Amino acid sequence: MARSDQRLSANVAGPFFVDASCIDCGTCWQWDPEHFAPTGTTSRVQRQPQGEEEIRCALLALQACPVAAIGAPPELVRHTPADGFPALITRHDGGDVYYCGWASRRSFGASSWLVVRPGGHGISGNVLIDSPRWSLPLARRIAELGGLAAIVLSHRDDVADHARWAEHFGAPRWIHAADADAAPGAEHLVEGREPVALNPDLTLIPTPGHTAGSMVAVLGQRAQVLFSGDHLWWQPVQGEVVASRRYCWWNWEEQVRSVERLLDLDVAWLLPGHGDRHAFAHGEWRAALTRTLSLAKGG
Ligand code: SF4
Repeated sequence: MARSDQRLSANVAGPFFVDASCIDCGTCWQWDPEHFAPTGTTSRVQRQPQGEEEIRCALLALQACPVAAIGAPPELVRHTPADGFPALITRHDGGDVYYCGWASRRSFGASSWLVVRPGGHGISGNVLIDSPRWSLPLARRIAELGGLAAIVLSHRDDVADHARWAEHFGAPRWIHAADADAAPGAEHLVEGREPVALNPDLTLIPTPGHTAGSMVAVLGQRAQVLFSGDHLWWQPVQGEVVASRRYCWWNWEEQVRSVERLLDLDVAWLLPGHGDRHAFAHGEWRAALTRTLSLAKGG
């Protein structure tokens, strides 16, 4: 629970605040940029929510925070919706895509995503991409949406409570063999660099670089949704897709080659583990990624 005596001075006055336990993960301002903003080292409340809808949004940021660094009066907190997450991001021919909230400290607040597919069970059913913090309210909502048929772990950093989710739903996990030690017991290991189709609409593409076993997942054949883990993310200030040398833990030259492999995709949504998500108009992706590659190569 956030402590008012640890309230950061960067917050605007009012009932919502961020305290000194903030780990600067970005979850709150990526979810609710109207009210939360980065300071460079932490988050802060930049504007107090007004009215029912805005307060609901800020309360969901409080719920999503992996370290309970967001505070609000108890009479507001007790109205935090139990069914706010997963939250719909986009409807796609290959399945409805949701943001799971409930970020985990163990994955430094990484985003996780749920693809809800018609068909219910088997590998054609719903797929969780990376793991949120274990949460019974979230598990109940996912059960109402048809449960989980598979869990994809994009790389070693964002596995969080994968074992708990896998056990609860009896869902097999997929991770690349090079990062498999981060998810002992994972039922399926992706080997090498060839794409693997989990079903007709969801393909895993190994993209080594950030870690040796980094993978992205691609939903659909056209106007695709790219679940990019920590391989790529959107930087709203510069308006660019970022591949980060600073946050490359394994091999930067390999990561740049892995970025090149995604040039021919037709991405409509970029949904990363860390960093902002972004929607692209038709045809924008290739130009954006070409710019990313130019910057990555020092151009
Ligand atoms: S979600 Fe929590 S830890 Fe992450 S930036 Fe916001 S206040 Fe800080």
